[in-house]
Amino acid sequence: MGSIDAPGWRELNIGVVGGGIGGMCAAIALRRAGHIVTVYERADFAGEVGASVSCAANGTRWLHEWDVDVAKGDPVVLKSLINRDWRTGEPVSTYSLEDYEERWGFVYNMFHRQYMHAMLKECALQAEGEGYPVKLLVNHKCQDIDLASGTITFANGHVAQHDLIIGADGIGSVVRRVLGIHPAKKPADQSCLHANVLTSDAVEAGLVDYSRDAALEYWGGQEGKWDKIVLSPCNGGKLLSYYCFFSREVGDYNGQSWGTEDRPVEELLAPFPGLDPLVRAHLAIGREIQPWRLWVHEPYPYIQKSMVCLLGDAGHPMMPHQSQGACMAIEDAAAIGILFSKKYFSGDVAEALAVYQDIRLPRATRVQAAAAKAAYNINERIGFSNNTNISQYKVEDETKKLTIEEMNSYDMYKDVEEQLAKRRGQEYTDKYIRGLPIGLTLPNGITIGA
Ligand SMILES: Cc1cc2nc3c(=O)[nH]c(=O)nc-3n(C[C@H](O)[C@H](O)[C@H](O)COP(=O)(O)OP(=O)(O)OC[C@H]3O[C@@H](n4cnc5c(N)ncnc54)[C@H](O)[C@@H]3O)c2cc1C
Repeated sequence: MGSIDAPGWRELNIGVVGGGIGGMCAAIALRRAGHIVTVYERADFAGEVGASVSCAANGTRWLHEWDVDVAKGDPVVLKSLINRDWRTGEPVSTYSLEDYEERWGFVYNMFHRQYMHAMLKECALQAEGEGYPVKLLVNHKCQDIDLASGTITFANGHVAQHDLIIGADGIGSVVRRVLGIHPAKKPADQSCLHANVLTSDAVEAGLVDYSRDAALEYWGGQEGKWDKIVLSPCNGGKLLSYYCFFSREVGDYNGQSWGTEDRPVEELLAPFPGLDPLVRAHLAIGREIQPWRLWVHEPYPYIQKSMVCLLGDAGHPMMPHQSQGACMAIEDAAAIGILFSKKYFSGDVAEALAVYQDIRLPRATRVQAAAAKAAYNINERIGFSNNTNISQYKVEDETKKLTIEEMNSYDMYKDVEEQLAKRRGQEYTDKYIRGLPIGLTLPNGITIGA
């Protein structure tokens, strides 16, 4: 699309508020686009927690594009998604990922969050690689931003001025408040306790070695209930990360946050008396049992204003049931990197941020809605949403369900070009609509452009 190329690119001095997964990805993408980037993190260790985080092909593709050394994250490459019967543990719905890389060009990784974060941080800060190394300033809690001048004020008294500010400060975002967004939100009807099980402990105790499945495994989810156990192997299979969901009526952890004292194992087991004894035995040797607070946020009306935009959980926090929160943050970072690159950035920050919102808000809020639905019906989860032949299969609206094809056929460059062309009053002739190829028929029966 030569007609899209815009002269006028200029180097920007960019501030990223929040040094989590999204903030680090934004920093990598923007340094590669030629800009000077400073990341401000409120904590001194970037606050990452001891649990797994999944990265499907739509996230993994950007890690490779940015030359991230993915091996440093010690991921498990997933081979399948398995939904098991709550009581017997027998597989009910299985989605094979054996041909996943062949189909989508990239694997489905399961990382440990701390390893993934360290891998991204190193890539952002290292001297090698494209662009200027990113500067990380810890113990810098953003307090306010002056939207007229781009000046950030921090709790430690530091003040910094930037041409562009990325608010990657997570679900409780201060930057979001500065933009005047007041979320319509409520605590989820579901609670979650997380536990880690060392594979070596399980094997020593004579329990099933689930790490061998290299699968994201689910118990329950078909019953229209909140109860669900999600097992994700990470750290090359050495660690089994368990997310245990149940009704908030059974146990309410909304007043407690991650990082406080570990909960006793009896509390973890209490909501699940009828659970498959094989996985229950794993939970019984669980460590580091921590509550994960779940909030349902309605989509925000906008995610940018002046020279500031929101990214990741700050812009579209979602329930965890599509395992796409991190991937959406990575995609946001990719969009920012493309829009401020030498090829597409005309020097007009407002235009680039408007297009960022045009492309990110619809896609991220669609995933956000699908994640809320999958909370009580696993058939809505991408992958399982293709398994229409199982007897329990039922979704709210077949034409609206989210599928792996929609997630992974998406071409962000095409979306950027289409939306930029619209903003610039130029004709867009490529055979894509919102990044999806015209004529593609999705498993929900929708044909793009029909
Ligand atoms: C336990 C857990 C498990 C998860 N599992 C998955 C999964 O399997 N798959 C998936 O896709 N997603 C998962 N997620 C969600 C996913 O991790 C997030 O969607 C993703 O990390 C988004 O990252 P973020 O950078 O937007 O926010 P965060 O990772 O929350 O990072 C925000 C950062 O901003 C910092 N910060 C906050 N306020 C300020 C301030 N005022 N000033 C400066 N810095 C500030 C915080 O300290 C933090 O480092 C999980 C999340 C949690 C907590």
